[in-house]
Amino acid sequence: MRLPTDVEDYHPHMECIDSSVMDTVLRLTEELDPSSFTVADARRALSKDALSPEDFAALLSPAADSALEEMAQRARSETRKHFGNSVMMFTPIYTSNWCGNRCAYCTFNAGNRIARAKLSEEEVDAEMRNIAATGLTEILILTGESREKSGVDYIGMCVKTATKYFRSIGIEVYPLNHDEYRYLRDCGADYVTVFQETYDPERYGELHLGGPKRVFSYRFNAQERALMGGMRGVAFGALLGLRDDFRKDALACGLHAYYLQRKYPHAEISMSLPRLRPCLTHASDTNPVHERQLLQVAMAYRLFLPFAGITISTREVGKFRDNIVQICATKISADSHVGIGGRAEEEKGDEQFEVSDARTVLEVKKALEKNGMQPVFNDYVRT
Ligand code: SF4
Repeated sequence: MRLPTDVEDYHPHMECIDSSVMDTVLRLTEELDPSSFTVADARRALSKDALSPEDFAALLSPAADSALEEMAQRARSETRKHFGNSVMMFTPIYTSNWCGNRCAYCTFNAGNRIARAKLSEEEVDAEMRNIAATGLTEILILTGESREKSGVDYIGMCVKTATKYFRSIGIEVYPLNHDEYRYLRDCGADYVTVFQETYDPERYGELHLGGPKRVFSYRFNAQERALMGGMRGVAFGALLGLRDDFRKDALACGLHAYYLQRKYPHAEISMSLPRLRPCLTHASDTNPVHERQLLQVAMAYRLFLPFAGITISTREVGKFRDNIVQICATKISADSHVGIGGRAEEEKGDEQFEVSDARTVLEVKKALEKNGMQPVFNDYVRT
């Protein structure tokens, strides 16, 4: 089968679910143009207890830039109300950089001649043991996106190894079917992150030149399949800067989370804020997103999705990260290595992008405390 959003048919292994979330999100994104709202619309949205999709679009508008200080005050108080001053800390581990996709903006693109590597079970164990020695109890496992090189069994091995050292385990891997997510949940995984990259199907087709990722709708429904498979939480992200108007992608991403939260009220929802960073190769027609705009998106997410976690990664510089956790972000990575390995032995395999904040876990923890925040290594008890 092929939906209007897909540039190619579903591959034989891909599960098709019956869901109307994608149609709703894409229709509303088409109807709501952030550039059509005024600063008065943004202020009206800020006066409400619960925001509608229209209010969310108003807060994402260029006009809302004039109300940024009010947004910050409201976002800070909303964050304090639901999360106190706590900030979750975690680190990513890349266990493989093999990838079967050809994304025009990524170093791991299957067509790039980079050093490829994949950690063995012993190496995964050694890396995780070293990470756990920093005190962290939450980890995010990334494998690149290759079913052939990093099969579901391999991901399961990584997750099972992680259960020896960590209390909360996330996976950021290629989209899976709901029974595969169930298997990985049974191995010990808690949450699933999938970035849609861009929610504009046409732009999506231009940037994803080969591989299973070309099937837009299969990727879009990954979080829902993960929840059907019993995962506790799901995370969303658009890679801001891929589309001519990043506000539309932020709008679609927030709506995606919003409608899934309504359909699965028990799900823990998180938002990520990746924006394009320098890497080995790049699509030349990308649109830079500035820090102030990134902050506006994060605050709009907070006000539209008051209970959602918001993650800020080491793609951003330390000063920005230190500030945003005082306003609306609730989760921060530290000591990130975006090559393969590097904690126990020498890093092998090329890196996905440049890290901007290279501080250690201890340094990030101290910075949080200095700013009156409470670093939290774990808030979840596994039963
Ligand atoms: S963005 Fe993800 S899927 Fe695309 S080439 Fe990079 S690692 Fe592979």
